[in-house]
Amino acid sequence: MSPAPSTEPAARVLVVEDERALAGMVAAYLSRAGYETTVVHTGPAAVESVREKAPDVVVLDLGLPGLDGVEVCRTIRTFSDCYIIVVTARTDEVDRLIGLSVGADDYVTKPFSVRELVARVQAVLRRPRTGTAARAYQQEPAWVFGDLRVDSAGFEVHLRGQRVDLTPTERDLLITLASRPRTAFSRGRLIEEVWGGGWVGDEHLVDSHIAHLRRKLGDDPDTARYITTVRGVGYRMGPG
Ligand code: CA
Repeated sequence: MSPAPSTEPAARVLVVEDERALAGMVAAYLSRAGYETTVVHTGPAAVESVREKAPDVVVLDLGLPGLDGVEVCRTIRTFSDCYIIVVTARTDEVDRLIGLSVGADDYVTKPFSVRELVARVQAVLRRPRTGTAARAYQQEPAWVFGDLRVDSAGFEVHLRGQRVDLTPTERDLLITLASRPRTAFSRGRLIEEVWGGGWVGDEHLVDSHIAHLRRKLGDDPDTARYITTVRGVGYRMGPG
């Protein structure tokens, strides 16, 4: 594993896991990969740590004593747009979680390889620098769709002049769609461009994030102004 470049401050990762041996092992791998790693063992401690240390990525085990992991995820989302990678015990639970719209950016199921988890952390952190979104931003200063303005400066999105707070995943999805407004993207292609290659999971993750995005933009899927569902394909930018 290559260390993070020394010219940049190390990205901060918070590991939330009540199994102490597993937490220690994950933290050791992440530290060795060059990340500044913090470990907590309970939900309330996780929320407090995100408030205090503003990590870039939270690796959140859902099976926690006390405050349930789903609630922890939702609570973090009310004040932070950090990346959240949820760790869950069962593959079939991922579907349920996506349905619950907890606001996670990625899912890893137990048992997992710690190397794979580190790769996922690296993948989310790489997104803004090498993803389609970043490349598109370098080429275009802004895109305008009616009342919606997607700006390159500061990665900002405005709706009728008001700033819209998006999570990094929602932002990357919106930019990917906006950068090629006439293109219909399949869910698989959006996963490849936004989550990065090698993502193994449920394509409904895309639907969940699109639903969040639409809610924040006040966009009705039946009479879409910004994000249109393309039947049998996926999504494209622009009115339906
Ligand atoms: Ca646990």
